[in-house]
Amino acid sequence: MKADALIIGGGLIGITTAHRLAKRGCTVVLVEANVDVGLGANFANGAMLVPSQTMPWNSPGILSTLLRSLFTQNSAVRINPRAIPSLFKWGLHFLKNSRTHLHELHTRRLLELALFSMDVFEEYFKEYRDQFEAKKCGTIKIYRDQPSLEAQIRSNRHLSEIGLDWEALTPDQTVQAEPHLQALEPQLAGGIRFSADVVADSRKFCQTLRDDLVAAGQIIHVGCQANKLLMSGDRVIGARTKIGDIRAKNTILALGTNTRKLAAKDARSILVHPVKGYSVTYDTTSVNDLPSHPIIDEGRHVGVVPINGKLRVVGIAEFAGHDCTLNPKIVRQLDRLTKSVYPNLAQMIDGCKREPWTGFRPMTPDGLPYIGETSNKGLWVNTGHGHLGWTLATGSAELLADLIMDKPTALDASIYSITRSH
Ligand SMILES: Cc1cc2nc3c(=O)[nH]c(=O)nc-3n(C[C@H](O)[C@H](O)[C@H](O)COP(=O)(O)OP(=O)(O)OC[C@H]3O[C@@H](n4cnc5c(N)ncnc54)[C@H](O)[C@@H]3O)c2cc1C
Repeated sequence: MKADALIIGGGLIGITTAHRLAKRGCTVVLVEANVDVGLGANFANGAMLVPSQTMPWNSPGILSTLLRSLFTQNSAVRINPRAIPSLFKWGLHFLKNSRTHLHELHTRRLLELALFSMDVFEEYFKEYRDQFEAKKCGTIKIYRDQPSLEAQIRSNRHLSEIGLDWEALTPDQTVQAEPHLQALEPQLAGGIRFSADVVADSRKFCQTLRDDLVAAGQIIHVGCQANKLLMSGDRVIGARTKIGDIRAKNTILALGTNTRKLAAKDARSILVHPVKGYSVTYDTTSVNDLPSHPIIDEGRHVGVVPINGKLRVVGIAEFAGHDCTLNPKIVRQLDRLTKSVYPNLAQMIDGCKREPWTGFRPMTPDGLPYIGETSNKGLWVNTGHGHLGWTLATGSAELLADLIMDKPTALDASIYSITRSH
């Protein structure tokens, strides 16, 4: 029997899309090339659901940051010269979108989607929070210089109108909120607490949804790469996969940075570029007294997050194509950054077993994801969530499910359409 929906890609976005469609009574088939779902860009990500971080990465001034990074060792942004030709078209649009008014507009739009996502996420939090270790602990952003702190406060004031929940902290209050930051107090200009942010394990979330779908009789094929879309005229009617042709009324592309490879001709206007990130997870399970809040060090572009009794540091934006090599210099750089946030934990960190990881953020030039139908009937996309895929997953999936079911959407979906101008 023909399924209502074939979802290609079992990352965070694909599995959440399958789950929202199944909740609406659809029959779904999901195919994932890897040996399980949730092993892609989310595998050891920052684990933070952060409406507080909805600023696209091309803030005004990004060009000078990128140029400086070419000549600076240990920069948080890195460009591999070999990747420059592949960046050309995407990069021009990325720079174009760094103009102040566009950056502000996209920040607001991302915040709206993030807040909507948090509403949808609440359903999962209530039902499954223990399965994916979700905690409503908020995040704390720290600032080492007054101008950056003040700039963030000014920007937050505008975002409060949309619903961003934040509170400025003096250095003393920052340390009260997270006592492990005590050694850093003399260097702090202050902090900002975002109480509505959440920490949760996105890989376990994917596994939870996988089990739920399978228990409900839905179909998931892992180790099953889709190689080609099946067409009937201009209409997409499924995909040719490793296990044969799978036909469905609707086909959804959720392949992260690989989406363009499989897209039908008309969906090739999708501009998603891999921006490589790193994390190192320190096995601190035998340590009793650990930080309890995720700390984002704004100036150093790094987050240090307590997750499942471990400590994870996450950061780096590297333009290196799909090269998945783990650069040991960057791993050491993340070690140093962790110790710069928690100098008092340096010895403990040196003694811990560590798991480095790297993944590709599927980044669009304007920072907004692509959610919607393509000009090929029956073909839909949900991709391009960049550094915010965990934050935006549930809302994006909800939005797409409503579009597919031809129901009114909670947000104006045309903002995320693939035909928007960049
Ligand atoms: C270092 C790092 C830290 C991050 N931290 C955070 C954070 O703290 N908070 C946050 O909100 N976001 C964070 N993100 C972003 C978030 O993890 C990503 O946006 C999100 O995981 C993207 O999910 P996806 O499903 O679109 O892509 P992917 O995870 O790449 O999933 C795509 C899937 O498609 C499969 N696939 C590809 N080709 C085929 C094919 N032909 N057939 C079948 N299957 C195929 C792949 O195997 C993969 O499983 C972080 C990302 C990184 C890299």
